[in-house]
This record gives sequence, structure tokens and C-alpha cells, in this order.
Amino acid sequence: MSTIVAISTPRGRGALGIVRLSGADALRITKQIAGKAFEIEARRPTLHTLKDSQTSEIIDQALITYFEAPHSLTGEDVVELSCHGSPIVLRRIIDMALCFGAQLAGPGEFTLRALSSGKMNLAQAEAIRDLISSQTEAAARQAARQLNGELAAALEPLKNRLVEVIVLLESAVEFVEDDLPEPQIKAVEESLSFIADGVETLARSYNTGHLLQDGIKITIVGSPNVGKSSIFNRLLERERAIVSDVPGTTRDTLCEPVDIEGVPVLLSDTAGLRETVDGIESLGIQRTHRAMSDADLVIVVMDGSIPTGPEDLKVLASTVIARRILVVNKCDLPGYQANRNEFLRLDAIHVSALTGEGLDNLATAILETFDVTMMESGNLLVTNARHHDLLRRAHCELKAGEVLLSDGESEELVLQPLHNALRFLGEITGETTTEEILSQIFATFCIGK
Ligand code: GDP
Repeated sequence: MSTIVAISTPRGRGALGIVRLSGADALRITKQIAGKAFEIEARRPTLHTLKDSQTSEIIDQALITYFEAPHSLTGEDVVELSCHGSPIVLRRIIDMALCFGAQLAGPGEFTLRALSSGKMNLAQAEAIRDLISSQTEAAARQAARQLNGELAAALEPLKNRLVEVIVLLESAVEFVEDDLPEPQIKAVEESLSFIADGVETLARSYNTGHLLQDGIKITIVGSPNVGKSSIFNRLLERERAIVSDVPGTTRDTLCEPVDIEGVPVLLSDTAGLRETVDGIESLGIQRTHRAMSDADLVIVVMDGSIPTGPEDLKVLASTVIARRILVVNKCDLPGYQANRNEFLRLDAIHVSALTGEGLDNLATAILETFDVTMMESGNLLVTNARHHDLLRRAHCELKAGEVLLSDGESEELVLQPLHNALRFLGEITGETTTEEILSQIFATFCIGK
């Protein structure tokens, strides 16, 4: 396999820039870059001067660390050159490495090599990607847990129990002339229901988990001038949207990421909903409807300083089936007292975007809507769509197995969906499972005796 090289730190200038090499020639190539006098001990960073191999011109001073195979990230010889973070310097080092026989690494190739050498499982490799791309503390925390192998660890007892069931049924097919005795069928039923419940709990955690990864999509809607842009800016904690007392100012949907107490949110401010003959405003309103149907949560804003009008009632009616929070804004204005009772009948949060009053309650209500306690609690959450899909498929197969068993179908028939379920669970961590079953069968029974 070729020796790969890449800059492992972000693009641009910085105090440090790291060039990483992995492969059988990593040390040889580094020696050529660092010059004849280069000596290095594994796992001991040492300072070296890097020179242009042709002109002997000094390029940089770098702290070089060598990780000898197999004790490295990829399982191969790995060298990290920690240089000064100048794109020019880093480019020259990469060019020299290429000149001495290295190849540019493809996206994720270091991790892929770690995977193929068994340094980590597939779920852990995916967790590295998620950890790097996480936008908030809560998302980073979940990714770090998965990187630590917690998903594989949570699946392990379920898979082991499933393997036990499969071994029992396979042995019945091989060795038992009659059907399985009743107590054993009962035990298999119990095991299957235990495994299916465990798989379902993990799959269900994706409802919250995917929000951590993708962000909760929240759309602010309401009739014009009720204070949507003001609330949007308040939640963003900056003046992103134009606030104006001219109705119809927000023409397009504005979308911004925001971190609400560690939870990633994609917040959209929209054009106010009303009847209009203005072509551009109508287009904006169409976009509002699209953003509404796409949202995980809709915040419906009303102006508390005036009685609800027909446009507010329309917005209320059109969002009645959505997951929504009603917000009564402008509580600071004198008109609010006169309308208060009318608004109190609605289960709404009363705020003033002008003074900031009540906005804490709005943030809390947003978090409560999504069972954020689950994000903050010690629960492991499935955050990856592929894992969720495999868990759902495994669950369906387990349920199918349960039905076949209770219908008194043959062991062969029951085994089919169970093998599928095991394969799906194994795919999460990228294992091959058929050998696993075979070796288990061989270990517990003396075939050929
Ligand atoms: P939008 O059209 O719904 O986005 O409303 P804006 O956020 O642009 O606000 C419309 C007008 O109401 C502006 O003049 C704001 O300054 C004013 N406004 C918004 N929120 C409040 C509030 O809580 N109190 C008061 N007094 N005025 C507000």
C-alpha cells in the first residue's frame, strides 16, 4: 500500500501546521525531507531543521514525531511534522514528500486505513467525522462517546444474546430430530423480545440524536410587524434581520445557526403572512410556507399590544397541526394590558423583544419541546442516519422472527430474519458476522463427533 501524506490542520495561517504521513515509506520520506543527520526514536517528538533537498535552503524547523507500526492511528508507520502554520511552508513540505514517493491522501484516508487495520470500528470512524463537524457541546459530547466505542458497547450484549439464540436454533436444525422443547422456545421468545426492545430503544434515541447532529430547524412565523425579526435577532444575540415598522420588510427567509444552551438550532425568520398583491412579497410568503413545512418547530408570533386580527387567526389555524410554540410579543406596550386576558386563553409565552423580558422562557420552552434532557442526560444517543436505518431494519427482522416463532414455524424459517438482524447490527460497526456465528457454533458443539 502506498504511503500517503496530507496537511492535517485547517487551511490558512496559524501558529502550527501539521503534515502527516502514513505508510511503509513514511520514515524514509521524512529522512529525505529532514536531511542525512536525521535520527528519531519512536513516540519522542524532536526538533529538526527541514531543508530543500536540492538547494539546501532552510524551509522551517519542525517538531517531528514518529509512531512505529502497529502502534499508530492507522496501524502503519506514521510521522507527524509539526511545522509553523504557513501555507507556503506546508505546501513545500507536501511537494517534497510527493517528490520522494508519497501520494496525496484522499478524504478520510487515514481513518479508512485505521479501519482496515482494525484500529477502530466503522461507528468509531464515523464518530471522528461527527466530532470534527459538531457545532455544539452536546453534539461533540455524543460524538466523543461514540468514538470511545460506546455504541458498539451498547450493541454488544444485544448481539451476543442474538448469537446465542441463533446458535440454539441452528443446533436444533443440525442435531435435534424433534422440535425444540417448550421451555427452550419460551427462552428464545424472551431473548428475542429483550433484544428487540434494546434495539428499539437505541433506534428511538435517534429522534433526539439526529437533532444534535443536524440541528433543530425552527421557523418563526406570524403576520407582518408582530416582531418576528426582533425575536429572531434576540435569539441570535445580534442584529441579523432588518427590524422595521414597515410591514412586509422581510421578503426572503433568513436562516442562521444558533446555539441554545449547547443545542444546535437552525433558526429561520420569514416574510410575514398576509394577503398581498406584491409579487416579491408573495414569493417570500411561498418561502415562508415551505420553511414552515420543513421545520421541526414553528414559533408563531402575535402582537400582544393589539387584539388578534384575521391574519393572526389564519396563522394560528394553519399551524394547528405543527409542533409549535405560541409567542405573544410587545408585552412592554400599554396596549398589552387591555389584550392580556384574550392572550392568556392561549397557551402562549409572553415576551418583549424590545426589553428582552420572557425570552429566557422562550428558550426553555424550545428545549423542553425536544426532550433536551435526553441530550444532556447520560443516555447514549444514535446520531447517525445510517445507524438508525440499520437499527430499524434489525428491529423489523427481530419482530418477524418473533411472529414466525409464535406461529410455530420451523427453526430454518425463524432463523432467516434473525440472521438478517444480526447482519444489520454488525453493519453498524462494520463487522463480518457469518464467521462469528460459525466460530461460536464450533465452539459450543462438537460437530463431527
Ligand atoms: P416583523 O415584521 O414581524 O419581523 O417585526 P419586526 O421585528 O420588524 O418589528 C416590527 C416593529 O415592532 C419594529 O418597529 C420593532 O421595533 C417593533 N417591535 C418588535 N418587538 C417589539 C417589542 O417587544 N416591543 C415594542 N415596543 N416594539 C417591538
